[in-house]
Amino acid sequence: MVRSYGSDYAAPLLAALETAPSVSVRANTLKSCRPSETADPVPWCRAGFYLPSRPLFAADPAWHQGLYYVQDASSMAYGAAVAAIVERCFGDTANLRYLDACAAPGGKTIAAVEALPASALVVANEFDRHRANILLENVLKEGAPNVVVSQGDASAYARFEEAFDIIAVDAPCSGEGMMRKEPEAIRQWSQSLIDSCASVQRQLVTALWRALKPGGVLLYSTCTFNRTENELNVASFVDGLDAESIDLGLDAYDGVGTGIDTPHRCYRFTPGHVRGEGLFIAALRKPGSHSAGGGSAVGRRRQAAKLSQEASVFVAAHVLGRGDGYSVAEDGVGIILRPSAHDAFVGMLSSKVRMLRSGLSAAVLKGRDYVPTHELALSTMLDTGSFPAVELDYRAAMSYLRGEAMAEVSPALAKGFVSACYGGRPLGFLKNVGRRANNLYPEAMRLRLEDRQLPSSAPNTIIE
Ligand code: SAM
Repeated sequence: MVRSYGSDYAAPLLAALETAPSVSVRANTLKSCRPSETADPVPWCRAGFYLPSRPLFAADPAWHQGLYYVQDASSMAYGAAVAAIVERCFGDTANLRYLDACAAPGGKTIAAVEALPASALVVANEFDRHRANILLENVLKEGAPNVVVSQGDASAYARFEEAFDIIAVDAPCSGEGMMRKEPEAIRQWSQSLIDSCASVQRQLVTALWRALKPGGVLLYSTCTFNRTENELNVASFVDGLDAESIDLGLDAYDGVGTGIDTPHRCYRFTPGHVRGEGLFIAALRKPGSHSAGGGSAVGRRRQAAKLSQEASVFVAAHVLGRGDGYSVAEDGVGIILRPSAHDAFVGMLSSKVRMLRSGLSAAVLKGRDYVPTHELALSTMLDTGSFPAVELDYRAAMSYLRGEAMAEVSPALAKGFVSACYGGRPLGFLKNVGRRANNLYPEAMRLRLEDRQLPSSAPNTIIE
């Protein structure tokens, strides 16, 4: 490594590989959360901060509420990269379409959602089925209503010609930057792994380039150190796709390096140089002038079907601003909200890829009643004052997260749906049936931590 990269780069990295990785979390700005004043900030992410040690996150109701996301500090640079792309390439263009092609578990998707204008649509895709479900859960916890999730090979998006303004390819890679965290990355490492990863990365980027609009930007990243998957691949994109590498200004932060032996604009986050794991980023602009909306793959505007009276009443009562700017549809299962400006496009995508989430599911139909979903409870679209609320203490919150029925939640509350809160914010829904309240926390998300495994109070993650 010293021979290939020089000792200025390699020596701090090699020393850092002998030390423990840092622990960092990013507060959810969509839910108006921020680190407290005493937090130790991540320089390139205003919502990110380091923790002195790793708490048991699963024992923290705030983590289940999506008030923060546990993310490596280097990866938090995605937010700054996306913000720079929007500012430098798209200005105040509304209704941008952003594809995160390799998205699970979703940390960078979430960072991008928070950096993009609220009018943007984010399509998060993941190949691996199990990981796609984790992605779905993380998107749900973040609460943004403008994210859809699909599962499949990202190359399938090549058919949506010139449809996206920004495409993120956080590529599967040899994972050298994760060796401190994942010993498996050390066992798997070989030169042939590097070569095959580099080839897969080129195939993915080349396929997805078709789905990028002229003037659009592809954000390429890996969590590995070698030049083959990084600078050399970027050079092949510049040469083969006529891409232009654009300045994101990330090297303004202490310790963030530029590409090694390359004329192209690339950024390296390297352990020993920054407090975080390995991350390589480059932003590549497609030639041509950019135009908003359109693309050859716009769906037809759908005729809005008339809503049932029950659905209209539900939305008017419980969705903020009555879902202004969102189209409301009933799909036989429940009520789905989608940003109106992207409704036709999402409809078109849904007919061609495997959609796991094609909008915010606000309620599901049970008999003749609309039952509010957990997704709505954690979403920024919930009108929080619209359900009677009960505040749970720490033990009760953990019991709720295990899916346990709650005896006599509050005799003063009317029967019906109740918002279970912790720290004044929604944790999920209960149905108060009188002598007890049924727990509506989704079975698949139930916590498997017993009382005896819990600390005496919630871990302090310094969020306000
Ligand atoms: N962006 C993610 C984050 O920040 O949480 C991490 C992504 S990880 C580096 C790469 C992901 O790409 C893996 O989850 C892997 O399963 C997925 N993947 C691999 N090949 C893929 C393909 N052909 N299409 C879509 N996803 C793929």
